[in-house]
Amino acid sequence: MSFTSLKLPVPLSKGIEKDHYKKPYPIQEKAIPAIIDGNDVLAIAKTGSGKTASYVLPILVKEADRKTTRNRFVTSLILVPTRELANQVLEVFLQFSPYLNHPPKAMAVFGGASINPQMKKMIGTQILIATPGRLIELADKNAVHLDDVKTLVLDEADKMLNMGFRKELDQILTLLPKRRQNLLFSATLSNDIKSMDRLILSNPITIKIEEKEATVDLIKQSAYKVTEERKGPFLRYLIKHLELKQVMVFTSSIHKADSVAEKLNKNGIHAKAIHGKKSQFARIEGLKNFKSGKLPVLVTTDLLSRGIDIEFLPHVINYELPRSPKDFIHRIGRTGRAENPGEAISLITEKEDHHFQVIMKKMKRSIELQETESINLHGY
Ligand code: AMP
Repeated sequence: MSFTSLKLPVPLSKGIEKDHYKKPYPIQEKAIPAIIDGNDVLAIAKTGSGKTASYVLPILVKEADRKTTRNRFVTSLILVPTRELANQVLEVFLQFSPYLNHPPKAMAVFGGASINPQMKKMIGTQILIATPGRLIELADKNAVHLDDVKTLVLDEADKMLNMGFRKELDQILTLLPKRRQNLLFSATLSNDIKSMDRLILSNPITIKIEEKEATVDLIKQSAYKVTEERKGPFLRYLIKHLELKQVMVFTSSIHKADSVAEKLNKNGIHAKAIHGKKSQFARIEGLKNFKSGKLPVLVTTDLLSRGIDIEFLPHVINYELPRSPKDFIHRIGRTGRAENPGEAISLITEKEDHHFQVIMKKMKRSIELQETESINLHGY
């Protein structure tokens, strides 16, 4: 199947195929025509499935055809859990807008940034990407009105509920017109999502994208037994010794992420920590430089890793283990690619050993812990 067969305008589908993607991902094959035809959609799909373009493209097409918009009355609303995701979604809109004759104006709003510039920029906006809290603030100030919303997207709906946004979502729903198209994207189909689905979707087309089971099996995994005191030096030894050029290091706390990054820098390894307490600017810059290869080491926590759009990571190091096996799989998942399998390395102290075995058992893997005692870490 090609993009040209998906009911998209020819200049857009040709542009996508020429400049971006060779052919649609399964979720795009199913969702794009369904959304263009006006259906509600429930899509169970994770980051990496191509879910963003699957709603961005049809929304762009619809919005380009919508001529009469009142100022500050947005017509497409995309709700997302984090500012990172808000920016990523906006980027996808901006990426494809140039292929339309009359590109609609899209903007992203989120907390943690000052509200005044967002209020000013709202004029003329048709497509609004928002985190729930900031949207309510803007609506309270009459900077945006939701009465004309024709299409509502809840992206990473499960994460929004996990982050405690249910109350805000309910409040936003009361501000929307009854007649509208609803698109709900979630990585999992939990009971909470099912109740949300019943609340907002009518006769939805359900699309379920199974995870590629094989990828986790493709990941080369190794684990090292190391004492707490030697963890830092051993991390630096690994990065230098294995000449790692693009590695994401996971810690279990913000504080630890900062201290690991600081010590890497002190020891001549360029690293940045990005997490919820960093400014929006610092996060975007860090991620951009990491993606482009300018920054070799990014130290981060689990919460942030979920929304980060990086297709392939050659190396992941678990400096500390996450609590759940699911988070472990999520951390290392992006290193498994058929043509180029990456490596996931875990540093395990005696205290973490039992938890590591539990995670491996859940993954149906057994990985031998390699001793590191005899490695001389002097100077690292
Ligand atoms: P998403 O699941 O929307 O976060 O997308 C994950 C990644 O897949 C992004 O880096 C997209 O640029 C990329 N992507 C989306 N659709 C396609 C496609 N049809 N072909 C190749 N890459 C794609």
